Parts: sequence; structure tokens; C-alpha cells
Amino acid sequence: MELGIRVRFAPSPTGSLHIGGARTALFNYLFARAGGGRLVLRLEDTDFERHIPGAEEGIIQSLRWLGIDWDEGPDVGGPYGPYRQSERLDIYRREAGRLLAAGLAYKCYCTPEELAAEREKARKAGRAPRYNGRCRELTEAEQAAKAAAGMKFALRLKVPATGQTVVEDLIHGPVVFENATLDDFIIMKSNGVPTYNFACVVDDATMGITHVIRAEEHLSNTPKQILIFRALGYALPVYAHVPMILAPDRAKLSKRHGATGVEEFRAQGYLPEALFNYLALLGWSPGDEREILSREEIIRDFSLTAVSKHAAIYDLQKLTWLNSQYMNALPLERLLELALPFFKAAELVGETLVPGEREYVLRVLETVRSRARTLVELADMACYFFRDDFTYDPKGVQKFFTAPGVPELLRAGKETLARVENFGLAETEAAYRELIAARGISGGMLIHPTRLALTGRTVGPGLFDIIVLLGKERCLERLEKAAAWIEENAVRK
Ligand code: GLU
Repeated sequence: MELGIRVRFAPSPTGSLHIGGARTALFNYLFARAGGGRLVLRLEDTDFERHIPGAEEGIIQSLRWLGIDWDEGPDVGGPYGPYRQSERLDIYRREAGRLLAAGLAYKCYCTPEELAAEREKARKAGRAPRYNGRCRELTEAEQAAKAAAGMKFALRLKVPATGQTVVEDLIHGPVVFENATLDDFIIMKSNGVPTYNFACVVDDATMGITHVIRAEEHLSNTPKQILIFRALGYALPVYAHVPMILAPDRAKLSKRHGATGVEEFRAQGYLPEALFNYLALLGWSPGDEREILSREEIIRDFSLTAVSKHAAIYDLQKLTWLNSQYMNALPLERLLELALPFFKAAELVGETLVPGEREYVLRVLETVRSRARTLVELADMACYFFRDDFTYDPKGVQKFFTAPGVPELLRAGKETLARVENFGLAETEAAYRELIAARGISGGMLIHPTRLALTGRTVGPGLFDIIVLLGKERCLERLEKAAAWIEENAVRK
């Protein structure tokens, strides 16, 4: 049966999803969707010691938040399951048994102490540590004796001592490995659990994976995996190792470079659309100047052969720039959906929106979104549209509240607004302009203290946009409150 393209993302549930993993998942997703193929999610969870409870759920949640979906996986099922390696142990044992029976693998009874001593010897001699192949030559009688003594054994693959194994990589081209640099590596540990390389190959083969797209750090595992594929008699998949992601200083990306986990970006107010777009550009480019690309465009234009083999440099400024572009361009309803959790957390709105509130929030978003780079900034900038309990920016107070007569001027503004019947942009602005002209003062002398009185801040959207959105009643209240506050606090230069 011709299966068509089948790819997989195979995270280990040992932590949260980082941008490197997310980018690998994304490239698999794009390749599958671009080629009408299927994406499999496989959990590589046989490293029981490093397993972190809840990590699987966290990874799935991060992927879904990013807008990556899969056709088969532990949560959605599929014809090649189970999709957790911990539930496939019998399959690995069966396949390992085949290799043993065919004489392509052998039992190794060396104890951890013996192996450690070997490694130490190699280290002292300046050699790379390699298994010395001692158990490969055990006679049947020797084996029987060890078995009778109840000794534990691991299974090792018989690796050819000479020749080369070539990885034909879609991104890197042919990469040649000398078999002499490999040793008879372990495929099944003595506790009956497969090693990463063995489980990975058995799964890739039995799940019908056609293309293995994964991080470049796995390239050194690939010759071993190819040898396992050949020993088992399965056809090889096509390999594509995607480049590393480095920090701006070209060091390995780590905590000290700030957020690197998808969940952290989400919490900091990055949009899934922006992160999706940004991750696609980490190693891939559409071949022209475009940087803002929709999901559909990326899927249409994505190709593995256009992925660079050079490391991609992570650039937070660019991500933040993309984020602000998306904040501005998204349909307001979508922005509302994304912003609501942040508005709730900042206690700007309650758990559910009361009737009419939705329209108000949409208008606030429309007014402030061009200035915010993240949803966190957006919630902060929207604060005074929902709460009266803000304080006045101290620098603003020094600048705009200390001139003599400011309370009186604010009250004059209040009277002026009180008289505006049709409380629209043009009407409120005209009324204020009249007051400014009548007083013979500069516009700023009224506008700046008014803004501070209404918002507590010195910068923000256009003043009359704010005035109209707040509505007459709140404007009057806030102007009076500010005037009284200045008097009470006797602010003087
Ligand atoms: N579980 C491996 C990892 O998270 C997967 C490697 C692979 O894709 O083969 O790095």
C-alpha cells in the first residue's frame, strides 16, 4: 500500500515545549500539510527517570495553542497506535527478538562496572569510548553459563567494523560516517526497555514514516538508526535535519536569553499567529522579502529544500515586531478572544462579559492596539478604560499638574464637556478648542493635564478618542477628582 507522506513529531515528556521543539513540530506540520500528508504525534516516554508528570499535556496544549494539529497521536488515536512508546514495549521486544534470532544482535552480559572501567581506560588513553565487543565472541557454552547464573544482559547491534554509513540528508546533502567510529551499541537495556535509537527506528518503520524531520543534534544518531533499519529489513525514510537555533551571541539558546518556552511566550502576551510566523522563518524563508506570512501562505510556499543548513539566530526584537504587526492586523474578534484572559487576569473584566461589555471591549481594543506590542502591554494600556483606581504618573504630575490654576482649568474643561450634548469626537474636540481659544492658552496647557486626569498617564491614544470612549459621566467625574486631588495634595512647582 502506498502511504503518501507520513511525518512525525516525537517529543519526550521531560519538560515543556521549547521553541526548538516547536519549530521542529512546525516544520513537520508544514511539510505534511503542504504535501497532503499525515502528521503523527508520538510520545517518546521510555526515559522513566526524566519523565515529568503533566509534561505530555503541557506539550499538547502548547502545540494546539500554536495552531499545530496532528492526524494521529496518543490523544486522537489512529491506525498505527499506540502512540506512546511506554505502551509499545512488546513491539520493541518482538523486533529485537528478530535481530537476535537472525544473529544481527547479541546479548551483552558486561556489568555497568566493567563498562565504566573500559570507558575510563579509553579516556586515559585519549581514545573515544567504544564498546570492546567482548560479548560478541561469547561461545554458546559461555552464554549458557551466564544465563544459568541469572546474569542480566542488554542487547547490542552488530555494527560492521569497516565501511561507511551515508546519511542522504535533504537539507545537508550526503553526510558520511565511518562505521569504525561506531561501536556495537545497545538497542535493548537489561531492564527490557529499548534505547532511544532502537525505539525510534522501530516506530518510524512500523508507523510508516516516510520523512524524518528533526533537530540537527540528532544527525549523529542517524547512522546508527540507518544500521538498525537495515538490520530489521525496513525501507529507510528520507532524513531532513533542521538547523540549530542559536542566541544572538551565537551561544546555545538557554534561560539566560530570556523566554524560550512556548508557554512563556504565551504568558508574556505573544500571539500564536505571530509565533507561528516567526518559527517558520527560523531556518526557512519564502525566497523573497516577505516576512509577514499567513498560515495558508506558509503552507503553500514551504519546502524542506529551502531550509538553510546554517544555524538560525533567535531574535526577540523581530518576534516582538511581528507580534505588534499581528496585534494590528488581526480581526478584532480574534484579538478579543486572545486578549480576554489577560484582561481577566488584570481584573479589567469579570469571568463573563455582561451585556454590552463586549462591544465596549472591542472599541477599547481598536483604540489602543496600535500602541501595544504584546497582550500584556495591551491590558496595561487598556487599564483606565475599565478601572478608576489608577494613580497619576509622578513625572506627569510634576509636568502638568503643578502650574497655577490647573484645578480651575480642569473644572472649566469639565463644565465644557458637560454642555456637549452629542458626545462624539468632533463635538468634544470643538468644545475643547473653543475653551482653549477663549482662554488664549496653548492647546497643550489644557490637553496634557486633561489626559493625565482621565488616564493617569502622559501618553496614549488621541485624547478625544479616550474622552468619547470613557463617556461623559466618567470624564466629568475624573476631571473633578483630579482637580480635588491636586488641591488636596497642594502640588506646587
Ligand atoms: N524524542 C526525541 C527528542 O525529543 C526525538 C528525536 C527524533 O525526532 O527522532 O529529541
